[in-house]
Amino acid sequence: MTDIADRLVDQVMTARAASRPLMIRGGGSKTFMGRTATGEAMDLSEHSGVVDYSPSELVITVRAGTRIADVRRILDEQSQMLPFEPPEYEGRATLGGALAANTSGPARPWRGSVRDALLGTRIINGKGEHLRFGGVVMKNVAGYDLSRAQCGAMGSLGVITELSIRVIPKPELETTLVQECNEATAITKMVELCRQPRPLSAVCWTGGRLYLRLSGAEQAVASTIGYWGGELLERAADFWRQIQEQTHEFFEGEMPLWRLSVKPSAPPLGNDAPVLLDWGGALRWVRAESSLTAMERYAVSAQGQASLYRHGDRNGEVYHRLSPPLRALHQRLKAALDPDGIFNPGRLYSWL
Ligand SMILES: Cc1cc2nc3c(=O)[nH]c(=O)nc-3n(C[C@H](O)[C@H](O)[C@H](O)COP(=O)(O)OP(=O)(O)OC[C@H]3O[C@@H](n4cnc5c(N)ncnc54)[C@H](O)[C@@H]3O)c2cc1C
Repeated sequence: MTDIADRLVDQVMTARAASRPLMIRGGGSKTFMGRTATGEAMDLSEHSGVVDYSPSELVITVRAGTRIADVRRILDEQSQMLPFEPPEYEGRATLGGALAANTSGPARPWRGSVRDALLGTRIINGKGEHLRFGGVVMKNVAGYDLSRAQCGAMGSLGVITELSIRVIPKPELETTLVQECNEATAITKMVELCRQPRPLSAVCWTGGRLYLRLSGAEQAVASTIGYWGGELLERAADFWRQIQEQTHEFFEGEMPLWRLSVKPSAPPLGNDAPVLLDWGGALRWVRAESSLTAMERYAVSAQGQASLYRHGDRNGEVYHRLSPPLRALHQRLKAALDPDGIFNPGRLYSWL
């Protein structure tokens, strides 16, 4: 519960003067993600605590090192929640880390990602300037919205020190229907069911079973159960938590874990690799000894992108490679915000 922003600014200034790279770290829960990190540790975990919470305005502002688990507890007291269901990774993940790594849980297609919930940020840029972008209301941007550029940048564009996030009320009722089907049938069903005006909040397929989570007003949930039928899943909250936290048995073991973000109706990968479908088919987790090139080829054919999420070679590229114009844009943005390249060099791409 401390504000150490001044100390963080000093550390940036010192690193800049010495041309020494910094490895930004929140709770240290995502060291497995991105490319292998290098540089002097810059620890944000102490920079934590709620700056402001207005339940009636559905907005919370926290220091970036605040643990998601703590934010959830505070919101829970007001029957509110984070819309994008970020993983807590054994309670260590911070809200700043969720923004930097762009992590969202099963509700993402219905309630939006961290990017959609973000109202404003404060960041320290590579010149040691502590800047504010956006604010605490939706309509708050004049010019480019640089708070959202932080989303998924893996700390390469600055040190996130503070975030204002839109929160939502918890649903009145939540229940999960489950039915048996194979992957191809699941994809067809997911696309068809997601088109219907029903209170869906998560759709996942794994191990030959399709899971449909319904959240909302009691009457809307009950009428959908009556209309769709299917078996009610017991201990459903545990199941969805395992999907959100990637602790479901599918994620066990050291086999490389690929994350494919694709068009929901894309056909199955077509090999024997174990697959888990989330986000109504738009997110496909694949366990396979494969190459980024092969995964990119499939993802592009499915109008999407691939990344090596966990395990495998973390010294090569792990994120979907960019076209030359996009790469040049990234480099210009990096040069504007971090001219000396001190923040997380090489963590996102080898060339950034
Ligand atoms: C008449 C009018 C009055 C307005 N009045 C207000 C007002 O009073 N208050 C207010 O808050 N807003 C107001 N707005 C809206 C505000 O100007 C826009 O919402 C804001 O400028 C758009 O920012 P954005 O980045 O979300 O836009 P987007 O539509 O997301 O982006 C615009 C373009 O910039 C690109 N872009 C966006 N971000 C980046 C980035 N980080 N790096 C590179 N490229 C990027 C996008 O790809 C896109 O091509 C007004 C708009 C209009 C038209």
